[in-house]
Amino acid sequence: MFLRIVRGFSAFPAKSRSGERFYAARRGPSLWYTGGVAKTPRKLDGAKGEIPERIARLISDMRSGKRLALARLISKVENRDEDLHEVMRGIYALSGKAEVWGITGPPGAGKSTMVDRLAVHLRERGKRVAIVAVDPSSPFSGGAILGDRIRMQRHTSDDGVFIRSLGTRGKHGGLSHATKEVVLVLDAAGFDVILVETAGVGQTELDVLKLAQTVIVTLVPESGDSIQVMKAGLMEIADVFAVNKADRPEADKLVKELVTMVGMNDHDENSWIIPVLKTEAVRDVGVKELTDAIASHQAWLTKSGHREEKGRRFLKEEVLDILAERLERTLAGAFETRSGQELLEQLLRREIDPYSAADVISRV
Ligand code: GDP
Repeated sequence: MFLRIVRGFSAFPAKSRSGERFYAARRGPSLWYTGGVAKTPRKLDGAKGEIPERIARLISDMRSGKRLALARLISKVENRDEDLHEVMRGIYALSGKAEVWGITGPPGAGKSTMVDRLAVHLRERGKRVAIVAVDPSSPFSGGAILGDRIRMQRHTSDDGVFIRSLGTRGKHGGLSHATKEVVLVLDAAGFDVILVETAGVGQTELDVLKLAQTVIVTLVPESGDSIQVMKAGLMEIADVFAVNKADRPEADKLVKELVTMVGMNDHDENSWIIPVLKTEAVRDVGVKELTDAIASHQAWLTKSGHREEKGRRFLKEEVLDILAERLERTLAGAFETRSGQELLEQLLRREIDPYSAADVISRV
């Protein structure tokens, strides 16, 4: 149904004598224009709507701490379920309170061990923690990948820790988009800190980290020198450097190089100067200091206005991601229709060129 509203007119849902619903427009008390018949009255602002009862119940169960409800909502997001839109509509207003930390670094740097330790420190500070382990190379999800098995054991009896792995299984959109939305669900569930850990430092992993307010780059002497760090684009995304396996003698050399590199960045009195910390995740050495450094960064984000700026950028990307996902789906079906097939035949007969064909499709 198309509803045309002329300036100065207002629209309201109405019912005909035979019980059909329609929208009517009026100016003053008299009826002026009636639109077509609508099966269900749509809200004119288009932004809000009823959340189906079963989704609303899942969300309220999740809010009251029921793990199963949380896991089911995450699966809906991860699998791009048909309820996705309703889930997001239901949780969005409840999100926006959590701190999101991203942990990246080359495989074997000790990220999983570090995340586990960070979770312990956060629990001591009374925070509820969610851990999302993202591995783009893994087809598995919802189960245990990376170092999760070990972590699970340590935290199983703790209601304040939730762990979830994300792989590439069963999705249309990119992994980074799904991860962002999983983080929103965890945020709405009331976790204070969400730790997003990537398996490596490839492009997908770095994209995933765009959602984090604070990014911790974990390096070890074996991961190469600071030139490698620059090349991998880690300098641009790092808010804190952790040189792990500080028990190794070469650790100090890497620390020095990183400090020099950070010093070469442009900065003034309002800039965040990336701290470089030495850690030994296995023995829990330096992890408390790392937690403090991250907390300082979080405080700086608020004070400097960068939190809002990051939030704006994040939301813009989120909406663009949704549009891209929709467009991709529409485009994928462009030649599946009868007119699409006909267009293809025309192209084959050289009756139309590809640009004009694209014009035809984008007009549909
Ligand atoms: P990830 O692949 O980055 O998640 O790395 P893991 O957390 O799985 O750690 C890889 C290996 O390094 C494991 O055997 C850890 O026990 C070990 N490890 C982690 N931190 C340290 C550390 O500070 N010193 C040493 N020597 N080994 C560590």
